Amino acid sequence: MRAKVDASLCDASGVCQEVCPQVFTLAGDKAEVKVDEVPPEAEEGARKAALGCPQQAISLQE
Ligand code: SF4
Repeated sequence: MRAKVDASLCDASGVCQEVCPQVFTLAGDKAEVKVDEVPPEAEEGARKAALGCPQQAISLQE
């Protein structure tokens, strides 16, 4: 799985980092994806982060 944050939508709420810190981190006023490939054990967290993102800025590619 790969994760992507659309920086034009992200408002730096930090929800993704709280839900899945293995994959998402806040860098300045935007969230960033820390990994090229989401580790299998973090996939569930990445899905929760995508669902929980208030701006729907996270997309996942299975
Ligand atoms: S949850 Fe969404 S809007 Fe909030 S920091 Fe993460 S990507 Fe940005």
